[in-house]
Amino acid sequence: MGAPKTLKIALAGNPNSGKTSIFNSMTGARQQVGNWPGVTVEKKTGFLTHRGYQIEVVDLPGTYSLTAYSVEERVARAYLLEEKPDVVIHVVDSGNLARNLYLTVQLLELGVDVVVDLNMWDELLASGAEVDQERLATLLGAPVVPTIGHRGEGIDELLEAALKLVEDRETRHRHVPISYGSHVDDVLTELTGLLEENREIGGDYPPRWVAIKLLEGDLEMVKLLEGGSPAADRIREVVARADKHIELATGSDPEKVISEGRYGYIEGALRVAVTEEETDRMELSRRLDSVFTNRFLGYPIFLAFVWLLFQMTFRVGSYPMGWIDSFVGWLSTTLAATLPDSLMSSLIVDGVVGGVGSVIIFLPNIMILFLGIAFLEDTGYMARAAFLMDRVMHALGLHGKSFIPLLMGFGCSVPAIMATRTLESRRDRTLTALLVPLISCSARLPVYLLIGGAFFAERAGTVVFVIYLLGIVAAILVGRLLSRTLFRSAAAPFVMELPPYRLPTGKGLAIHTWERSKIYLKKMGGVILVASVILWFLGAFPQNPALTAAYEAERDALARTGAATSAARIEELESQIAATKIENSYIGRAGKFVEPAIEPLGLTWKMGVSLITGFIAKEVVVSTLGVLYRTGAAEGESRSTLQDALRDPASGISPLAAFAFMVFVLLYTPCIVAVIAVKREAGTGWMWFSVGYQLALAWIVSFGVYQIGTLMGLT
Ligand code: GDP
Ligand code: MG
Repeated sequence: MGAPKTLKIALAGNPNSGKTSIFNSMTGARQQVGNWPGVTVEKKTGFLTHRGYQIEVVDLPGTYSLTAYSVEERVARAYLLEEKPDVVIHVVDSGNLARNLYLTVQLLELGVDVVVDLNMWDELLASGAEVDQERLATLLGAPVVPTIGHRGEGIDELLEAALKLVEDRETRHRHVPISYGSHVDDVLTELTGLLEENREIGGDYPPRWVAIKLLEGDLEMVKLLEGGSPAADRIREVVARADKHIELATGSDPEKVISEGRYGYIEGALRVAVTEEETDRMELSRRLDSVFTNRFLGYPIFLAFVWLLFQMTFRVGSYPMGWIDSFVGWLSTTLAATLPDSLMSSLIVDGVVGGVGSVIIFLPNIMILFLGIAFLEDTGYMARAAFLMDRVMHALGLHGKSFIPLLMGFGCSVPAIMATRTLESRRDRTLTALLVPLISCSARLPVYLLIGGAFFAERAGTVVFVIYLLGIVAAILVGRLLSRTLFRSAAAPFVMELPPYRLPTGKGLAIHTWERSKIYLKKMGGVILVASVILWFLGAFPQNPALTAAYEAERDALARTGAATSAARIEELESQIAATKIENSYIGRAGKFVEPAIEPLGLTWKMGVSLITGFIAKEVVVSTLGVLYRTGAAEGESRSTLQDALRDPASGISPLAAFAFMVFVLLYTPCIVAVIAVKREAGTGWMWFSVGYQLALAWIVSFGVYQIGTLMGLT
């Protein structure tokens, strides 16, 4: 049956983990002992045959790590990189899992096929600890085999596991990238991309591994960048920039952050897979964890934090919001007074200042929310919240890690969708990015405040709460539905990194907050500015003076008399002029066009227009309603009048329709920038799917709300 198949197996492990014992048990007498080329480190090679394979086993020097600091490490690493053994058996001292798995993680990062050998199993059992081997194997993405090296127990199973890997029969085998926190992860993605484009630099080393090593300042990898090609210079530049950034943001160097990431990963895996006897001293992190991740206390504490976060966002945020509001009001009054009355001044005052102004007032709230989220992330609490929410998230066909993007969705869908990058599997990333927009973002709040305040008076708070809840319920139901249909494969098992708790640095928080706020500001400077101008244009044109000539003549005549009694009539005429203009503008026509589609939801054509413009951003819904119901833009002092106009029976909006409208606003596409974000993270196909399903969902639920409400006699 052909030539015998040959295999190369390497034994790696910490010193004294029992490698040589395993090696001897495997190879018996057939060994060669020599030195590794160029260094006086013992090289042992042995041979055996097993199930028709001719196997060469190499006992690597004992190492704790795969950096290039010591001779042993350099030898072991060079062998793995250059000789490319078929399988690496990592001999682990089970009694000291946390420290030993540090090497496992690095082997996995290197992309080699690893069998984790839980050696000294007898000692582990004697200590009273229990290991869920299946769980550990699934989490690490590598098979796990217990052995007792010096007695030769478990060797056959070990070989069998190795062959299973070689023959590609190991179902738990997968590549698990470790998350090192957003600062490092982002740079890693960038560097990996650069290395993939410039293969000549990293040779055939795995690009992500080279990227990690470059950040760690690995001398051998840094050498690869010598030679001065433009690509190498570029990469060096990115690394240097990242160094500074990470240092500033976390207060420690990338090497340390990366090693903490690995320990966090291991800590998370062991937390799930190993039950230890309560003998070891509890350090601060452990003690905090026993409270924060406690299965009873954890949830109320978490809810309290979230409640506090929202309180801060709205309470503290209301002060700067007031200042900006007054400033915008002052600016538009001043501009209106100084600019000659013309189309141009209307464009600047109503279009640009009105449009952007009604949105920028929410910037402080959003910055506070981002600051709070950055604080929870940087202290390490967010990881615990994700850990805690794991079970809940399983109901959505996701796991705890997806919880962070969803929580961020309360702030703004855009950074939330971008945060799905930290998830390991493509399936989870896509599914989470599809669900995030259902979580009510802060941009929708102005709509709820406006409509809720207009129609529900004292009950407005409850109504808004119900809307938020509805978004969460929708996310759960859609998540369940999608994970049972389009996303059928099971959620990838994964390790939740539990990094040590730490006091965040002011600079780190500032950077984190600023990076996300920048996105919001960009949205305002770009999309919303353009949208406001377009909106203004569509509302002001086509112009047809003949339609309003009669009203205008009457108004001018009344104004000339200057009688105080005619003031009310003048106001009435003004609004009639505005209404007529709007109805005949492009916007008015668009509204009439969609009217048949939204009539069954109880909505007026003006609401229809605001839903269309709301595709741009949810804040625009408010400014559109402001324009259409003719009370100027939506700044503070005019809001009450806008609310009066909406509540007025003449508006044709019933409270039930108002509620259906809020539901629609909650469920359909949050904004154009979010759509672009979904495209970036999940692809064009999913982008269209996201827009389509949300629109369908919004229509159906609003329809249901309005029709059932009507049947029940609610109005
Ligand atoms: P190496 O330095 O990593 O090659 O480790 P060795 O093979 O020299 O083993 C170190 C010590 O651990 C020796 O005294 C072995 O007898 C002992 N040893 C190896 N495997 C086991 C095991 O599974 N259980 C126990 N209790 N001791 C072991
Ligand atoms: Mg040895």
